[in-house]
Amino acid sequence: MIQAKAYAAQTPETDLAPWEFERRDVGPHDVQIEIHYCGVCHSDLHQIKDEWFPGVFPMVPGHEIVGKVVQVGAHVKKFKAGDLAGVGCMVDSCQVCENCKDGLEQYCLEGNTQTYNNLDRSGVPTYGGYSNTIVVREEFVLSVSDKLPLAATAPLLCAGITTYSPLRHWKVGKGHKLAVLGLGGLGHMGVKFGVAFGAEVTVLSTSASKEQAAKDLGAHHFVVTSDPEQVKAVKGSFDFILDTVSAVHDMDLYLSLLRTNGTLINVGVPTEPYSVQPFSLLTGRRSMAGSGIGGIAETQEMLDFCAEYNIVSDIELIDIKDITASYARMLKGDVRYRFVIDMATL
Ligand code: NAP
Ligand code: ZN
Repeated sequence: MIQAKAYAAQTPETDLAPWEFERRDVGPHDVQIEIHYCGVCHSDLHQIKDEWFPGVFPMVPGHEIVGKVVQVGAHVKKFKAGDLAGVGCMVDSCQVCENCKDGLEQYCLEGNTQTYNNLDRSGVPTYGGYSNTIVVREEFVLSVSDKLPLAATAPLLCAGITTYSPLRHWKVGKGHKLAVLGLGGLGHMGVKFGVAFGAEVTVLSTSASKEQAAKDLGAHHFVVTSDPEQVKAVKGSFDFILDTVSAVHDMDLYLSLLRTNGTLINVGVPTEPYSVQPFSLLTGRRSMAGSGIGGIAETQEMLDFCAEYNIVSDIELIDIKDITASYARMLKGDVRYRFVIDMATL
């Protein structure tokens, strides 16, 4: 077994603290990565607090992982020691169902194996990226370009693919008016991709203070959602809304901002169900949809796209001992736009 160091939550009531555990040995199809950086996703906070469902504890969060390959199994073809590599939200899936065969491992009909807070296919708990090392089967390891700054690449593994995938699926681009609702880790990547794909991008935010920053990210317009006049001015105007909000919000209000045939794509995962008035959907034949991360091939496509167009996340690098304080800031929407843990501080 491989000795690993990490920060873990022992229960939903306790803060993260140093913890040591064992990873499996590197099997013939496995890649071992020395983790250099791990992004901090709002999903980490939802899960260590048991906000979605009862979790697997102790829990080592983290699914925006980048680092260097240190060891590969005998049958591994795509990676060798010294390569830069990444791991996102999944570390396994059945590989044979129709969704896996279509490159939609995130929708594996048996359920994918999540990078943490899950049991692997042999029943062993999975532990995430707030750790010095991880062992993952080759098919779920991504190639990372040395053209991009490594720490700012980490958030692409979740925030990046979670916004890239739906924008590609719904073919959002030139001639479309796209609103990005919530300017946090996911939202700021949604802005960057929306702009890169040629859409006219509006940020809908509760934080008036983010206006200049939104424009710096490339957004064409900015609407403060607490100002009824500003909201009224954009009613019925968007082809798509990419909803990245982490807390329950007024869905009827945001659906009313869609034009006829418009689609609200939900990627946020608040802890309570939404309520939606039927009229909010049938008026103007509007749709409400959802999207979860992205498949492995599409994640590689997104990383390659980012390397080609020089797209990374805007990050604040943190010391792992500041993780609890960083969660508190994230809850207040006070992060520009992703915390990334420097694993050298572990
Ligand atoms: P984040 O960095 O905390 O950003 C969320 C943003 O939502 C905040 O910055 C804030 O933006 C806005 N917001 C927060 N509370 C709000 C409220 N009560 N009303 C309106 N707006 C509010 O979080 P994140 O890491 O981007 O994650 C966002 C959500 O996506 C989380 O629920 C996460 O679990 C989920 N997620 C889903 C997937 C998927 O596969 N679908 C993948 C990753 C994450 P403003 O200050 O601009 O208002
Ligand atoms: Zn995430």
